[in-house]
Amino acid sequence: MQPKLIDPFNRTIEYIRLSVTDRCDLRCFYCLPEDYRDFTEPEEWLTFEEIERLIGAFAALGVRRVRITGGEPLVRRNLPDLATRLSQLPGIDDLSLSSNAVNLARQAKALKAAGISRINVSLDTLHADRFRKITKGRLDRVLDGLMAAKAAGFAPIKINMVVMKDINDDEVEDMVEFCIENDFTLRFIETMPMGETGRNATDHYIDLQTVKQRLGERYELLPGVMPGGGPARYAQVAGTELRIGFITPLSQHFCETCNRVRLAADGRLHLCLGQEHSFDFRPLLRSGATDTDLRDAVIEAIALKPERHEFNEKPRQVVRFMAKTGG
Ligand code: SAM
Repeated sequence: MQPKLIDPFNRTIEYIRLSVTDRCDLRCFYCLPEDYRDFTEPEEWLTFEEIERLIGAFAALGVRRVRITGGEPLVRRNLPDLATRLSQLPGIDDLSLSSNAVNLARQAKALKAAGISRINVSLDTLHADRFRKITKGRLDRVLDGLMAAKAAGFAPIKINMVVMKDINDDEVEDMVEFCIENDFTLRFIETMPMGETGRNATDHYIDLQTVKQRLGERYELLPGVMPGGGPARYAQVAGTELRIGFITPLSQHFCETCNRVRLAADGRLHLCLGQEHSFDFRPLLRSGATDTDLRDAVIEAIALKPERHEFNEKPRQVVRFMAKTGG
C-alpha cells in the first residue's frame, strides 16, 4: 500500500508549497515592506539537488502535488531545470507554479516543457496606475506574461486577486469579465494578518461572503467544483465556463481540510501559514543525512502540524510575511 503522511489531527498531507527564493521583483504593500533588505542569501537556499532529494523523501511518503512559489519563483535562475527534476520524481503527479508573471513571457514555454502543467498568477487590478500603487510594478508585463502562458498551453490558468476595501473592491466584476473573456479561473482572497505589512492591510479587509452576495446580484452563481481545488470554495457563473473560487481564511476557515505544508527557500518547513511551528531540514541535508534519516525527519516534522491558524484570535502572532513562507 502507498504510505501516507498523516498529521496529529488525522489529515493526510499530500501537497507541498515549495518556495525557491524569498526575493520578489514586486513590492505589494500588503506583503513585502518597501525598503526590506533582509532577504536570505543564495547560499542559504537549498540547492536544486537538495530540493530534489527532500521532495523525493516527501513523495516516497505519499506527497503527490508540488507548487513552486516564492517570493517570486521566476527570479531564481534556471527554474525550468528544477521543474524538470521535480516532474520526474516518482510519485509527483501534479507540478504547478505561482507567479506574479512579471517575467513569465520569457519563460512560459520552457516551464511548460519542463513539466509544469498549471499556473496561478497574482493580479489585483486591471488598471496600470493602480497596479503600480499596489505593487510598484508594471501591469503590461503581467498581461504579456499571462498571454504567453495561455499560448504555451497552461491549463487552468488561475488569477489570484486579493480583494481590498477602497483599493480594488470596485473591480471584482471587471475581473470576472476579464476571466470569462480569457478563459481563466478566478480566485478571490481575503487579506491575512501576516507580518506588519499584512496587518497594515487588514484596514482594507473585506469578508468575501459580501463579495459573493454582490456578484450574485449580477450573475447566476451555481455551486461549482474544481478538481484539486484545495481551500477555495468554487462557484460557476451560469452560461460561462468561469469558475470563481473564494479563499476565506478569516471569514470561514478551512483548516480541518488542510492537506499542505510549506517549505521555505532556506529549507525550513512551515507547518501552518498562520502559526510559527517549523522544522529546519537544511542542517540535516548538509550533514550527510541518510535517506532513512530524512524519512524519519519528515515524519517528525509532520507531527508538529498545529490544528489551525488563529488569524482572528491572535492577529499579531505571525511575524513573517507571506513572501518569507512561500504563499
Ligand atoms: N510571487 C508569487 C505570486 O505573486 O503569486 C508567489 C508568492 S505570493 C507571496 C503568493 C500570494 O500571496 C499572492 O497571490 C499574494 O497576493 C498573496 N499574499 C501576500 N501577502 C498576503 C496577505 N497578507 N494576505 C493575503 N494574501 C497575501
